[in-house]
Amino acid sequence: MATDFGFTPGTFLGNGLGRTGVITTPHGDIRTPAFIAVGTKATVKAVLPEAVAGLGAQAVLANAYHLFLQPGSDIVDAAGGLGAFMNWPGPTYTDSGGFQVMSLGVGFKKVLAMDAAGLADDDVIAAGKDRLAHVDDDGVTFTSHLNGDRHRFTPEVSMRIQHELGADIMFAFDECTTLMNTRGYQESSLARTQAWAVRCLAEHGRLTAERAGKPYQALFGVVQGAQYEDLRRRASRDLAGLRVDGSSFDGYGIGGALEKENLGTIVGWVCSELPADKPRHLLGISEPDDFFAAIEAGADTFDCVMPSRVARNAAIYSVDGRFNVSTAANRRDFGPLDATCDCYTCANYTRAYLHHLFKAKEMLGSTLATIHNERFTVRLVDDIRASIEDGTFAEFKAEFLGRFYSSRH
Ligand SMILES: [Zn+2]
Repeated sequence: MATDFGFTPGTFLGNGLGRTGVITTPHGDIRTPAFIAVGTKATVKAVLPEAVAGLGAQAVLANAYHLFLQPGSDIVDAAGGLGAFMNWPGPTYTDSGGFQVMSLGVGFKKVLAMDAAGLADDDVIAAGKDRLAHVDDDGVTFTSHLNGDRHRFTPEVSMRIQHELGADIMFAFDECTTLMNTRGYQESSLARTQAWAVRCLAEHGRLTAERAGKPYQALFGVVQGAQYEDLRRRASRDLAGLRVDGSSFDGYGIGGALEKENLGTIVGWVCSELPADKPRHLLGISEPDDFFAAIEAGADTFDCVMPSRVARNAAIYSVDGRFNVSTAANRRDFGPLDATCDCYTCANYTRAYLHHLFKAKEMLGSTLATIHNERFTVRLVDDIRASIEDGTFAEFKAEFLGRFYSSRH
């Protein structure tokens, strides 16, 4: 089928994995590597879309699970799709809803701390909690966190929801496991995710034909396999080789819980098996050192909720590390949040003012802190991209991380 979607690789790192590039979508280009701003419920919390564009974000990622429950994907469809609904003219992503649905009641994190190390029991993940989601070979039955209603997601349902949401880039419905599942469970889960990938591609083709005349929506297959090299590599090869009615995935997502210490290694296994001419998105990471590791190992885009989430709790990113502007040290500090930052907040407001806003529980505090943290993140990834292009990635990584983490260790 004809598409307006594509990816052109640019400059590669010496390891042959990390690279720059350009993703082309019907709503504009994304220069990679790129940080994709998270707008879970069709809003980047606390900031206007104009501010999101103004701080340099190139694309926004929303969540199919949340928008299915509220307001309903049919409403977003009738509005003209996610971008039109939220007044964001640029490229958009939706994730499949799988992660949110399957983590209901389980409480696992995307990037796990090592306090879970050594545990390997499928029951551990549900200990002490009522599971709100039940997975079988056909799909997942779950209970809404909003009102307790029962719903069922299958690969076909996720594809229909994501087509109605209308994002430029969608993800196949996959089963998310945790690092605490047994090896045996990971293997059977991977087989299930692979079968679901086939069903997603088939339904995607059917819906694309049915909805002819709408902008083309790209579909990314999602690589699971937890921390096992053989499973990750096999899953990558299987998805890369998958053809359904002559169609293959437009790109790939890298999913699943990852140990922070192994993030780069696992992304590297996956990216060394995937075709170089298709983009790769790492789903949900957190801290600046993760960005360097992921990009170096071949991830082109990634979404990260941390810059805006922590901003609403007064936590501020700076080149000298993360600090909390609500602490007493900032009460009479009339300097900017970060003297090296070029954002709207740093150009116009002081640490003392943000300290006051957070202490007084004024909403503007969250807005100004989010603008700064999102700009800090966008600019960091822009600088990483520039360092790949001019051959100074290793030096930039050492310099940035050395300064960012110097106050912690
Ligand atoms: Zn700033």
